[in-house]
Amino acid sequence: MKTELFKIEENNIDASAMEIIKRAGQIMKDGGLVAFPTETVYGLGGDALNPESSKKIYAAKGRPSDNPLIVHVCCMEDVEKIVKSVPEAAYKLADAFWPGPLTMIMNKSELVPMETTGGLETVAIRMPSNKIAAELIRAEGGYIAAPSANISGRPSPTIARYCVEDLDGRIEMIIDGGQVGIGLESTIVDLTVDVPMILRPGYVTYDMLKEVLGEVSIDKTIIDANSKLKPKAPGMKYRHYAPKGELTIVEGNQNSVVDYINTEAQKYREQGHKVGIIGTDDTCRLYQGDAVKSAGTRDDEATIAKELFKILREFDDEGMDIMFSESFDESGIGQAIMNRLLKAAGHHVVHV
Ligand code: AMP
Ligand code: MG
Repeated sequence: MKTELFKIEENNIDASAMEIIKRAGQIMKDGGLVAFPTETVYGLGGDALNPESSKKIYAAKGRPSDNPLIVHVCCMEDVEKIVKSVPEAAYKLADAFWPGPLTMIMNKSELVPMETTGGLETVAIRMPSNKIAAELIRAEGGYIAAPSANISGRPSPTIARYCVEDLDGRIEMIIDGGQVGIGLESTIVDLTVDVPMILRPGYVTYDMLKEVLGEVSIDKTIIDANSKLKPKAPGMKYRHYAPKGELTIVEGNQNSVVDYINTEAQKYREQGHKVGIIGTDDTCRLYQGDAVKSAGTRDDEATIAKELFKILREFDDEGMDIMFSESFDESGIGQAIMNRLLKAAGHHVVHV
């Protein structure tokens, strides 16, 4: 299959951009797949109400079919049709965070096929704020199932080039909308339980949810790496976000971390390995590796969220087979950053 590639600027959706969006909508209506930008990461979209489309999504990504897809909508009335009933909490959260990087789990209606929900009676729903995504959902007819647009297990794409790398020849179209703003997948909150539960941390933090809902819990498997429990979001049990090389997170005071990473880097480089190091704006100049990249600044952890997956992909492209990263504070969005980083590192952490 030949994959068409188009560029659209989110802040300049003119008539010719709308033509492309309409065509992309039609492709999905006809059962095809389109990768497109959202504010979190790029999504791989297909008609969420068509079981054949969902099967194609799993096949294109190489994703296990018990790992349900998030249904993307563009208005609240459309949510009402795909769930049994909309819980009060959903209206409150939608008021506060939609359109935006929050996914809510509710009990599904008959309209949503089991192929889309990985066999579950619940459905995950999100209303993205990216304008290209919103127009695309409208053009498609309302319901786009869209997991991240990467081959299963690889870091989620934050620029279109990585969708091309993973999916060229496997899907009908890729829309390039530039680098995404957030860089980590949405926060997932389960509203089918008595106390709403965070199943995946993201840009919308625990504190932000608590302020709106009063009471929120967190799936224990997110916090405790050694937990033997099964995560409630099926996707969270898979090794995820993984670069090709071996990544180690180094924790401790700044001087010890820098010393440890430099010593290890030198040792590996002498053995012929290529070593990539993830630091911050303040520390990058202190490191010696084959590639040293700043994830951003600790003063604004959103900068780190935005760059993290991109850096992991770049290290892959540059052939780094050994990687080290500094550790980040787990408060606020730091919880999502560390959740992804720990998965990328296969929970390999060194305390110095
Ligand atoms: P991705 O689309 O790649 O961001 O992955 C979607 C995530 O949402 C996966 O971790 C899924 O397991 C999770 N998810 C989707 N639908 C549900 C659901 N009905 N219940 C629990 N988790 C879900
Ligand atoms: Mg994903």
